[in-house]
Amino acid sequence: MRKAIFLDKDGTLIPDIPFNCDPAKITLEANIIDGLHLLSKQGYRLIIVSNQAGVGLNYFTEAQVDAAMEQLRKLLHQAGIMIHGIYYCPHHPEANNANYKMICNCRKPLPGLLLSAAQHHDVDLRKSWMIGDILNDVEAGNRAGCRSILIDNGNETEWLSGPLRTPAATCNTINDAALYICNNN
Ligand SMILES: [Mg+2]
Ligand SMILES: [Zn+2]
Repeated sequence: MRKAIFLDKDGTLIPDIPFNCDPAKITLEANIIDGLHLLSKQGYRLIIVSNQAGVGLNYFTEAQVDAAMEQLRKLLHQAGIMIHGIYYCPHHPEANNANYKMICNCRKPLPGLLLSAAQHHDVDLRKSWMIGDILNDVEAGNRAGCRSILIDNGNETEWLSGPLRTPAATCNTINDAALYICNNN
């Protein structure tokens, strides 16, 4: 079985601009490329897992999410990073769009996106990690059976704690997270 790094998108791989789907406004966060290279070289699949409730809330369509994701994939590819999978949750319990109004199991902090990705990519979750900028990412990773790293860059503001919301480590950047993972796998 393979091992994977599950990566949050907004606030982790790219600066957090709420409900942004404009490809022109997608830029890479600083201090991520060396770490992603290192993790790739260690044999991890890199898989993006992202809440995109803006679909259900009618801010944008799934096609626009796909275009934004492709731009991100392209920017990373230009930096020599291959993304193996992109999974997102378009749902919201209060969605305006009836097709997406539901309590799903894929909206983080629930682990559905990671579980689907693991099935498709034959991933051993116990050997895998989740990296994200809020504790909902940490909880999703922990619920999936991964270990989780919080990128503490100021985006988490509520700090709701709990046994499932405790990261294995807190790092400033993905580069730091990658070093931690390589030293603790
Ligand atoms: Mg985020
Ligand atoms: Zn969902």
